[in-house]
Amino acid sequence: MPPGTHALLGWLVANSCELPRRDRAIVTLAGIAPDVDGLGIIADFFWPDPATPHRWWIDFHHVLAHNALAALLVSLVALAIGRRRWITAALAAVSFHLHLLCDLLGSGGPDGELWGIRYFWPWAATPFWTWSHQWRLDSWQNLLITLIAIIATGWLAIRRGYSPVGLFHPGLDQKVVATLRRWRLRVHLSPRAVPT
Ligand SMILES: [Zn+2]
Repeated sequence: MPPGTHALLGWLVANSCELPRRDRAIVTLAGIAPDVDGLGIIADFFWPDPATPHRWWIDFHHVLAHNALAALLVSLVALAIGRRRWITAALAAVSFHLHLLCDLLGSGGPDGELWGIRYFWPWAATPFWTWSHQWRLDSWQNLLITLIAIIATGWLAIRRGYSPVGLFHPGLDQKVVATLRRWRLRVHLSPRAVPT
């Protein structure tokens, strides 16, 4: 799935219980951490010699960081730096594995190529998990999941008083939350259609 969708889903996992801001950031980042192995696409793009193509994206994406070892490392980091250490580490593991599940469901290529997960890499190249009904990365299913995650994020912001914006800029987050609450108020106060 697209990284933005992973980030939103990670944020929702982070809000499954009351966590301090730093721990919410850790769990959210754990939800997009596996895609760090896709950064090779930048080196591929800028590779100067077309005669010997650079293939870090093809060779390493969904391999280096989409596995149990990476999940363990992310959880250990969460355990080390989280304020509510154990719950943050557990939710980071959930967030990470939700990413893997979502990739299995909906990260298919435009030509029908299936992206799979080598969960036990580097210890073992098999099993190689794929799903034969995997939908495309640019599919309506991913769009729908993203829209639902955005609505859930907005609903949580109205109820709890903070949104993912607060991970970067708490002051701006207060304005975002205030705006969302004003919109909700307007919807509640708008005159209903009078039956004839
Ligand atoms: Zn991924």
